[in-house]
Amino acid sequence: MRVLLLSAVLLYSISLIGQNNAPPGATHDAAGHTSYYAGTMPLVISVPHGGTWNLTEIKDRDCEGAVTVTDRETKELAFEISDALAKYHGMRPYLIVCNITRKDVDQNREINEATCGNPEMAKPWETFHAYIDSALAEAVAKFGSCLYIDLHGHGHPEQRLEVGYLITDKKLTSFYDQSELLSDHTTSLGNLLSRKEVSSLREWLFGERAFGTLMAAKGYPSVPSQQDPHPKEGEKYFNGGYNTRRYTGAAYPNVFGWQIESNYRGVRDPKGRPAFAMAFSDVITGFLRQFSFVKMPVSMGEQVR
Ligand SMILES: [Zn+2]
Repeated sequence: MRVLLLSAVLLYSISLIGQNNAPPGATHDAAGHTSYYAGTMPLVISVPHGGTWNLTEIKDRDCEGAVTVTDRETKELAFEISDALAKYHGMRPYLIVCNITRKDVDQNREINEATCGNPEMAKPWETFHAYIDSALAEAVAKFGSCLYIDLHGHGHPEQRLEVGYLITDKKLTSFYDQSELLSDHTTSLGNLLSRKEVSSLREWLFGERAFGTLMAAKGYPSVPSQQDPHPKEGEKYFNGGYNTRRYTGAAYPNVFGWQIESNYRGVRDPKGRPAFAMAFSDVITGFLRQFSFVKMPVSMGEQVR
């Protein structure tokens, strides 16, 4: 009976950690709080708020300003993206996934706010960040440079991807009005813009080759982009948080990236996920191939769709 009960608990934990479509090459910490999926390309994706496992022995976070909502199905979205990259391009991104809920730890905050001072949550916080750190170090060693994406989900009324470059909505609006926008090293593209071959920041926010423009062209409205350069007065917009700031900053000179806040319908929902992941896999591989300092692996060739 005891064995049966233990295996039931184990199976339940595995279902919370792995899920059905989990990519291969996983490493989990001893408690199963955090999962690392090894990649084969210069793309690292972290999923800080997709965990649904509420640790019963841990008091829910309730310190001032603590946000505890789950970014529903962002973990499943990351798995789908990994599958699409494998299926259509023969490569996989590095994934770092927090399996426990944001009620226990917030993996996109500095440690004090993240744990609300609970010392028992320091370990999962450190592990999550240590995994991102190793993924970035390995990707930079192998591919010269690396794109980092912190993947989230929003519940805002505007149905679009909010791409966060650490630029506020007001600043985005003023940037859009400047014709000569060459560089701004306080953004999450600072390390990209320090490369000689890269043109002005304007190009990467509002131009033809910007990530948002390419996604919008595939039918996934995004802000900023050529089609929708900045949020309008009163519209909600997340511009990037702790992880984006940390991993695209001066301590990671070969890493650039952004935060993605995704809408639910047609992107995170089970019905929409496969098509979104396919579009994303095409856009992101094309985006990375633009730069000579990013050594992209040779694609296995376009697969039949
Ligand atoms: Zn989030």
